[in-house]
Amino acid sequence: MNGTFDLRGKKVFVAGHRGMVGSAVVRRLASEDCEVLTAARTELDLGDQAGVRRWMMDRRPDAVVMAAAKVGGILANDRFSADFLHENLVLQTNVIDSAFRSEVRKLLFLGSSCIYPKFASQPIQEDALLTGPLEPTNEWYAIAKIAGLKLCQAYRRQYGVDYISAMPTNLYGPGDNFHLEAGHVIPALMRKAHEARQAGRKTLQVWGSGTPMREFLYVDDAADALVFLLKAYSGEGHVNVGSGQDITIAELARMVASIVGGDMEIAFDTTKPDGTPRKLLDVSRLFATGWRPRYALRGGLEQTYAWFIRNIEAGQIRLTAPES
Ligand code: GDP
Repeated sequence: MNGTFDLRGKKVFVAGHRGMVGSAVVRRLASEDCEVLTAARTELDLGDQAGVRRWMMDRRPDAVVMAAAKVGGILANDRFSADFLHENLVLQTNVIDSAFRSEVRKLLFLGSSCIYPKFASQPIQEDALLTGPLEPTNEWYAIAKIAGLKLCQAYRRQYGVDYISAMPTNLYGPGDNFHLEAGHVIPALMRKAHEARQAGRKTLQVWGSGTPMREFLYVDDAADALVFLLKAYSGEGHVNVGSGQDITIAELARMVASIVGGDMEIAFDTTKPDGTPRKLLDVSRLFATGWRPRYALRGGLEQTYAWFIRNIEAGQIRLTAPES
């Protein structure tokens, strides 16, 4: 890691602070000696270029964490291709360019592990980017994210600003979207298992064959890594952020079922897509710094389920439909 950015006394704008990642970054920044800036949607529409420029000029952050994105699971990505591509391109371009225009010195852009080619060799190294075709079910989102990281690289090269990118693996945890169609696999399975147990059903419906492998990272671990990179990393290349371990979807489903309880059988719905067969990031670049996640998968899932239970009772669970 080759740079330091001292957060003390700085103003850090977290774009997307209501999302799962953004809110975890805000929680993590609370233990740094910096001022965190956030903007409610009613105050700032990240899709409005003039508005974002004005807001940024007015507030003058020293650093920006770009955690705002339109995200969704495998079906939502596939069905709402135009929205995923267009919205993400607009939001990230507005934030990155406005940051540059208002002389923001440090910016951290968040990508996703789906930017890598479908058949990249595993674990996926950072330099596998753009070496092969993408997974078709999420290529719209992936293309937008690739454009975002290239935009940071280009501003860095042309103007010498310290804009960096991190590529987190599949994240999960408090604040995730528990909508059954739009959400990712962990919140979807957790909610399905919970509802099956409540209704006395003994089957947990899992999409696809159960054989795909995925790596997961608890969102507070991800936020810790992101703040670490914001402070310690300065380079043109993006950095993978993951746990370094993967698991089959079938094993994951069994783990979720055992946490939720109720002795459930797993049933596979093979009319639903599997997506990419395996997605494990090579995290040696990040781990070489000594950084490690604190939560093992089971512990993170237990925390997430405890949060789900607390919040479902309070009516605070996010159930964002694919089209919204
Ligand atoms: P991906 O990593 O981009 O493929 O996104 P997802 O988290 O949506 O899906 C990961 C894997 O979990 C895929 O193989 C899905 O088919 C599988 N899966 C199994 N059950 C579910 C479910 O209920 N919802 C979702 N989203 N995926 C599921």
